[in-house]
Amino acid sequence: MIKLHVCLWVEFVFISIPAAPFLLKMSLSTVQSTVSTLKSCQTDIAACMDMISDVALGIVEAQGMDNSSALKKLEDMILECSRLDREINCFVDSVDEMTAQVTQEPPEAMVNLRNSVKGRFTELMAGVSDTDLQRHSKVVAFKDSVRKYAMQGQTPDENEEEELDEDIAVTQSQTNFICPLTQVEMVNPMKNKKCNHYYDQVAVLEMIKCKHKNRKTFRCPKVGCDNKDVRESDLELDLVMKRMIQNHKRQSGKT
Ligand SMILES: [Zn+2]
Repeated sequence: MIKLHVCLWVEFVFISIPAAPFLLKMSLSTVQSTVSTLKSCQTDIAACMDMISDVALGIVEAQGMDNSSALKKLEDMILECSRLDREINCFVDSVDEMTAQVTQEPPEAMVNLRNSVKGRFTELMAGVSDTDLQRHSKVVAFKDSVRKYAMQGQTPDENEEEELDEDIAVTQSQTNFICPLTQVEMVNPMKNKKCNHYYDQVAVLEMIKCKHKNRKTFRCPKVGCDNKDVRESDLELDLVMKRMIQNHKRQSGKT
């Protein structure tokens, strides 16, 4: 279980600030570089949250919703990650705010920076509620995918007509597994929240980066889609879809 607190970072970051004002500029850059290291931790936290969701889907796949205690434990874990992510945001915000203030004040004010950041951080964190933690996009995705995946497992009584429909559904889903950019089966399917189309993660992120570098927008490559501006913030890793592709691959490998 992850239990790392940003307060420790506060101590760590400010240990490097000397009292002598002439070292102020240098120290501020130390603070900034530590803050950016902290920001990069958020990528790991996000990956960790995806992993927790994937484990939950594995449990749902094997046992349905019966193992509620295991699912609850995973939910607690993902909420802990959400808190950690929030703590980093609050800390980064308080450092930004307070350093901006201090640069407009006489150099002596730097000595108090540590305390003012600590104070502001405590203030910001006090305003964080459980609801805020639940609202984290990865926590929402966790719950959605568990629900969606559990529902998928419940197959209704089939009659012949439905079986026929199912065949069509299978063919359709197979084509849906193909990335419109790479034309091969997706590995990490990302869903566009705006137009509901899917692309493979590596391909789409690379494409957006490339277009933006040339000051262009990236148009959704799905035929008939009128979404003219696909942005990274619209994309979300779809773990249910990922699992469906993996299962499909396993099944077709068997035959
Ligand atoms: Zn689209």
